[in-house]
Amino acid sequence: MDLSLTPDQDALREATTRLYAKESHGERVREAEARGLDPVLWDAVVQMGLPVMAVPESQGGAGASLTDLAVAVEVHGAHLGSAPLVETAVVARLLARLGLDEPLSRIMAGGSATLRLTAGPGRSVTAYAAVADVIVAYDGTSLVSVAAGPARKGLAGLALADVDPAGGTVLAAGTEVTASYALALDEWRALTAVAQAGLSRATLDVGVQYAKDRHQFGAPIASFQTIQHRFADLHARVDSSRLLAYQAIWALDEGEPTAAGLAAQASWWCGEIADEAAGFSLHVHGGYGFMLEYDVQLHVRRAKATRLLLGDPRQELQVIAEHRWGASAPSPELSHTARPTRAGMDFRFEPETEAFRSEVRSFIAKQPIDEIIRRAHATGTMHDWGFHRALCDKGYLAAGWPTEFGGLGRSAIDQCVLMQELYGSGAPIDGLNIAAMVGATLLVCGSDEQKATVLPRILAGEVMGCLGYSEPDAGSDVAAVATKAIRDGEDWVIEGQKMFTTMAHEAHFVFLLARSNPDVPKHKGLTMFLIPMDTPGIEITPVETMGGERTNITFYSDVRVPDSARVGEIDAGWSVMHAALVYERTSANWGEPHRLVESVAAWARQPGDDGARPFDDPAVRETLARASTELEAGRLLLFRSAWLSSLGDMPQVEGSMAKLVITEAFVRASSALLEVLGTAGLLPGSESGAVLGGLVEHAFRHSVVTTIYGGSSEVQREIIGGRGLGLPRNR
Ligand SMILES: Cc1cc2nc3c(=O)[nH]c(=O)nc-3n(C[C@H](O)[C@H](O)[C@H](O)COP(=O)(O)OP(=O)(O)OC[C@H]3O[C@@H](n4cnc5c(N)ncnc54)[C@H](O)[C@@H]3O)c2cc1C
Repeated sequence: MDLSLTPDQDALREATTRLYAKESHGERVREAEARGLDPVLWDAVVQMGLPVMAVPESQGGAGASLTDLAVAVEVHGAHLGSAPLVETAVVARLLARLGLDEPLSRIMAGGSATLRLTAGPGRSVTAYAAVADVIVAYDGTSLVSVAAGPARKGLAGLALADVDPAGGTVLAAGTEVTASYALALDEWRALTAVAQAGLSRATLDVGVQYAKDRHQFGAPIASFQTIQHRFADLHARVDSSRLLAYQAIWALDEGEPTAAGLAAQASWWCGEIADEAAGFSLHVHGGYGFMLEYDVQLHVRRAKATRLLLGDPRQELQVIAEHRWGASAPSPELSHTARPTRAGMDFRFEPETEAFRSEVRSFIAKQPIDEIIRRAHATGTMHDWGFHRALCDKGYLAAGWPTEFGGLGRSAIDQCVLMQELYGSGAPIDGLNIAAMVGATLLVCGSDEQKATVLPRILAGEVMGCLGYSEPDAGSDVAAVATKAIRDGEDWVIEGQKMFTTMAHEAHFVFLLARSNPDVPKHKGLTMFLIPMDTPGIEITPVETMGGERTNITFYSDVRVPDSARVGEIDAGWSVMHAALVYERTSANWGEPHRLVESVAAWARQPGDDGARPFDDPAVRETLARASTELEAGRLLLFRSAWLSSLGDMPQVEGSMAKLVITEAFVRASSALLEVLGTAGLLPGSESGAVLGGLVEHAFRHSVVTTIYGGSSEVQREIIGGRGLGLPRNR
């Protein structure tokens, strides 16, 4: 996996940015709207060779990849380029594929082109048809070259005109044409998605800058949390749209069997996000955004107009569902062919990672997973000692730790793959997660004695910890903990209460954050302890939850521990708490919601009692496609974060983006999919005939907590808005 651009692509981006900054700024876009084309920009784009760069060299092009072209198209989208760059490039490649030297030669000589995006007979409004030198359409059997009807005014220019294939000159016919035309549409989808991603980032930048500059109520409006959180959501969603668009382009470049489905996902998601980003950027401009003098209204109209070119955007959801689960759907996994020699963006895992994934899958397949899940759901304890020890025996608890510390030395990407496979199996691994976190913290901050005595036992799966951070009055603001640690000679005495101490009833140690100094700012007066759970004075009270998982309240009354129970320096508990982050890089749980969506999709394809398949209902397909696309956006953010970690970075903002997008998508998906089940969705797994063993009903009850623990969605938005976008502090 590699998400970087090559040096050549970086240079192309810089050169294209220079060109567009000069030839496609707000004034020029306004001027071009009436005609739909900026001829000076078009000439400059042709001079640079962009429209035909991705035509094979043997046919007069530069033989560049679609990814190379996409780098330029992203800039084109960001600057609202008023020229048919995408359309001409797609038509040129289509004609080249079919060996149609005429009219390809007209494009090679600098002509512009467009294609009618609907197949079959009849008139349809087509972008750039009013100005293009070459217009191609597909009537259902033949590819034809046609003339456009009269020019039409449009929501955002785009040189619209009606195109009707009737009466055109037939260029080619046959199955090869049908397939080539379908591929041209997929290329158009993916390239337009990249342009929309470019537009999204540009419009978000404009909105954020305006909000930083504009003051109301004596403060920049960017300091208001309601504005910050919308920006934070968009920052994550815009990043995900770019990843989705480039993944589709990459898949087309590589001829991946999943390319058409990925192109449809990119097309829908990038259109959705561009619309949303531009709409909110206008909104933060208040009344000024509404004035034609401001550029942001250009973004709003262009984003929406581009989105409408394929027709009702919801139709794309039907296309996604068909490609993903329809009769001819390829395997939903990306293909695992060997990595090509081409450098730059590559969304495929390395062969070693694929081998590791197979190893993990076959390990899981040998475990009595259904029985383990059944027990966990019956007891509410999301931990199973037998499974835990089997995981530890394989070394999976410390897969990403260096080998000299007992780990497997696996990359962050491998570690992420491992976790997603485990989450996706449905097996309860809260214990594994907590033990790994405690172990990783001890590795960084533990004393020699703790490392020698506790770490090996954690790694062997003999002992486990629980996390004593949250308190009745300290949740998101965990630095506000009030549990006291009072020095008494060589010992410490702990007094207080912790909320939500999950796994306390199974754990051997509590990793406890306590206030050791009440006279300094709150973050500076905390100390961390590792305390055996059998220490006198600790009491555990169970807490039942809506999701069925058990957690606990723990009470600490005159709990006396030696100084050797301290982890890290006195009053340095805050940094100890964050030390585990070094190894805790890829924890967002994508596997579980992915399993949910795929399970419901499989169920929906089976005929029900009345013989009908739920999947044949367009509303069901729409729900599935929406959920799966949102999750794919989250998966790419997650693996982007793992990829950055594997390069040695500490991608905190990127990790927050992944957690935010995935968990919020999980909540939406479980709610919408439960509605798909109707009254059958009322039945939990314990009832006979419960659909999918009550999986969806359980997901509905459980998913909400994923947006709360591990830092709530609002806490993630604070990180993304503050550190990611540099929005001014509001507290
Ligand atoms: C099942 C379960 C298991 C858990 N396991 C553990 C565990 O093992 N160990 C442990 O220590 N803790 C655990 N927790 C606690 C969990 O970490 C906290 O619930 C979480 O940090 C939120 O704290 P809170 O519940 O006090 O909510 P609060 O912090 O009171 O938040 C309430 C609401 O206010 C919002 N909010 C808070 N601050 C802001 C802000 N600055 N801006 C905008 N909105 C804000 C939150 O997003 C939330 O919607 C668990 C919780 C649950 C439910």
